[in-house]
Amino acid sequence: MSDFIPLSVPNLSGNELDYVIDVIKTGWVSTSGGRISEFEKKLAQYLKVDRVAAIQSGTAGLHLAMILSDVGRNDEVIVPTLTFIAAVNPVKYVGAEPIFMDCDDYLCLDVEKVADFCEKECDFIDNRLINKMTKKHIKAVVAVHVFGNMVEMFALMELAKKYNLKVIEDATEALGSYYKDTGDFAGTIGDFGVYSFNGNKIITTGGGGAFTARDLKMADHAKYLSNQAKDDEVAFVHNKIGYNYRMTNLQAVVGIAQLEQLENFIAIKERNYNLYKSAGLNLLDFQDNIRSNKWFYSLITDKRDEIIRHLKEDNIQSRPIWKLIHTLKPYENCQNYGIEKAFIYYDRIVNIPCGSGLAKLDIERVIGAIQWKT
Ligand SMILES: *Cc1c(COP(=O)(O)O)cnc(C)c1O
Repeated sequence: MSDFIPLSVPNLSGNELDYVIDVIKTGWVSTSGGRISEFEKKLAQYLKVDRVAAIQSGTAGLHLAMILSDVGRNDEVIVPTLTFIAAVNPVKYVGAEPIFMDCDDYLCLDVEKVADFCEKECDFIDNRLINKMTKKHIKAVVAVHVFGNMVEMFALMELAKKYNLKVIEDATEALGSYYKDTGDFAGTIGDFGVYSFNGNKIITTGGGGAFTARDLKMADHAKYLSNQAKDDEVAFVHNKIGYNYRMTNLQAVVGIAQLEQLENFIAIKERNYNLYKSAGLNLLDFQDNIRSNKWFYSLITDKRDEIIRHLKEDNIQSRPIWKLIHTLKPYENCQNYGIEKAFIYYDRIVNIPCGSGLAKLDIERVIGAIQWKT
């Protein structure tokens, strides 16, 4: 049997081990210690923002974004159906309801359809967007940058301004993607931006995430909430209900080592994507107007299940994209609007190996296995 080729695994070939040994020697392994703020500073510098809060996960960051958007019971939030479920669950954590939207041809939230929905299915009264069907206040929209592509952010920001919506960018899959003309990074354009350093993301801290906000005070407030809303650590004064969402020093040093390699990882992903493409595989494009991190590759095929099965027999991991969230049990009764493309892409996409540790020979083996029958 040939060696196993995984879809995407952590690439820990840099300074991770040295830094982890150092931090263990100091004993500062938990949520205090200077390396957390060092990681925050370095990430903020990379993203060209003033403030980043390092947290436990992308999911935790999205939860904080819901809270800071003042989303609560009786409110609604616009979300994409084609995404990982962690982008939607935080809507429910705060007691609100999601409204599901379609994707565009880059698998991201279809901003035009969102505009249509706001215009046709809602009223805008007293600066509040009210859903005609439920009479509820729609307060926010979650923009997920799928696989390293980007939602049409500037159109979305216009729309959000028009209807007084908060924009929560789920940039968990798009760290490093930015608009070529403005240089704006995914996650730094909306009101709030969330990153993930889970094991399969472009950089990892084992588990972890980061939070940023256009308003500095909001970023600082997220950090405060992530740290048990501690107003005085000696006297244990807490003036708000907080969360244990702060990143640990141990995770932070892994993050620092990973950040050192991020641009290199993106270059490898770009190279591998081009290898697949030049062999003739029908991969979904990334937008021309962005420098994408090319995190995940999407093979378009009408033989989805056959290809996944055949790759598996060859010891190569691949998978279909996520089952559409509005069809999943917890969400099947929620409102959805004009979902068409998401069904088409769901049926036709296979994600193929894309890790930054893949060798050229691995890529060639994957290409061979895909071309075997097609
Ligand atoms: C990974 C991911 C998340 C969650 O991040 P975690 O760090 O695993 O909590 C949220 N949304 C999307 C789209 C993701 O891919």
